[in-house]
Amino acid sequence: MGISTNFSVAIAGAGLSGLCLAQYLTRAGIDAHVYERDPGPFVRRQGYRIILDRHGLAALRESLPRPLYNLALTTGDEPGGHLRFTDSRLRDAFTITFKDEPYATRQVDRLTLRSILQTGLNGRIHYGKQAVAVDSGGPAGLRLRFADGGAVAATVVVGADGVGSALRAQLMPDAAPASAPLAGIYGRSPLHRNGESMIPDALRSSGVLAIADRPGRAFFFTPMRFGERPREAFARLAPGSYAPTGDDYVMWGLLLGQGEVPIGVRGDLLALWRLAAGLSTDFHPLIRRLVATAELDATVLNLFATGRRPRRWAVPRATMMGDAVHVMPPFGAHGGNTALRDAALLGRRLLEARATGRAVEEAIAAYQDEMVPYAFRAVDTAGRLMRRLTGGAAAPHWVLTRVLPRLHRVTVPEA
Ligand SMILES: Cc1cc2nc3c(=O)[nH]c(=O)nc-3n(C[C@H](O)[C@H](O)[C@H](O)COP(=O)(O)OP(=O)(O)OC[C@H]3O[C@@H](n4cnc5c(N)ncnc54)[C@H](O)[C@@H]3O)c2cc1C
Repeated sequence: MGISTNFSVAIAGAGLSGLCLAQYLTRAGIDAHVYERDPGPFVRRQGYRIILDRHGLAALRESLPRPLYNLALTTGDEPGGHLRFTDSRLRDAFTITFKDEPYATRQVDRLTLRSILQTGLNGRIHYGKQAVAVDSGGPAGLRLRFADGGAVAATVVVGADGVGSALRAQLMPDAAPASAPLAGIYGRSPLHRNGESMIPDALRSSGVLAIADRPGRAFFFTPMRFGERPREAFARLAPGSYAPTGDDYVMWGLLLGQGEVPIGVRGDLLALWRLAAGLSTDFHPLIRRLVATAELDATVLNLFATGRRPRRWAVPRATMMGDAVHVMPPFGAHGGNTALRDAALLGRRLLEARATGRAVEEAIAAYQDEMVPYAFRAVDTAGRLMRRLTGGAAAPHWVLTRVLPRLHRVTVPEA
């Protein structure tokens, strides 16, 4: 399989990276289809926000038609804001301030972003299709096989099937992720109750990581305010597409040791919420109120894991993107951004192959050679941040929870 002016791409997984790549290729006239395990587009709440940094934003700008890119910006939160590190009583240790330029880092609602990424891909996203393996052969060179016994032919197969990837063992046989010591129970609560904001003015545009005295325990929260309401923005920029509700909310997460989450609790939303509530009692009353007012069906358990550098790509013309390759603990907000960056890079390399007539194998190798270094730099950074902020290493933890908060004023009185 050499000349690559006419090829087809089968993508496993309609998450952030799979959809972004499908947008990129479809816009350029390359035949791309996405196969997703979920039975439909909005079966899971996925009710949290993600921070898009300059890599994620640049990838979206390159991949999406301009109205859809503008839709992501206009429905997102205002750029800028702060990330505060505090002790469990919300006394400041230190603060990072983000730039508030128009194209700087900002929060977007994940469900809204997924809806934007699906827009225009009519007939190209196939639900209820659980990928299980890639075979060589068939008219196009490869076949992507599904759990229901079906298969599709494609020149290129891309595994974008997330942290629990079914294709990884076959395509990157030496790179199963390692489990990290921590987990997060995530939830969301309405930002407004009885006409009042749950978040005091002092924290209006802040994400907060409240680090408990006990190593390995912390609580994160951040308000998500939609810029323009999705309903109006979608009607203007993507008429006919599904606009998620768009009520402002607070996303929060209790970080704890994986061993503290009993197996029997893991699939049970009420039990998970109860566990989070029980372990939040030593935190500031604002934090306890957030957990108490959570929307139960948005509760999510995330067992942190760390990807391992692939040394070998086992199936020519099959590759992988996103969490399937380089899952990382959610410190530093790089996971989704790196996944989007992969999609734009792979899209660019495939387009160049088509333009120059070079072999797709070369395009894929170029993508892999470039992706692995930046992605695993992000994995290493996330791991380092996790250890520094929540690890037992005596000095940093002591400085964060004991020394620095004493030097700072009280941000949110406890009354
Ligand atoms: C609570 C939380 C907060 C986060 N916040 C941020 C943030 O602020 N910034 C950031 O950059 N990142 C953040 N992340 C990480 C980010 O969400 C992920 O890195 C990103 O979603 C990875 O994208 P992906 O395309 O690789 O996989 P996903 O978006 O996970 O998509 C994988 C898709 O594949 C499907 N699938 C799975 N198996 C199969 C199969 N066998 N066949 C077909 N389909 C399959 C899944 O159903 C899913 O739709 C956060 C993660 C969590 C859990």
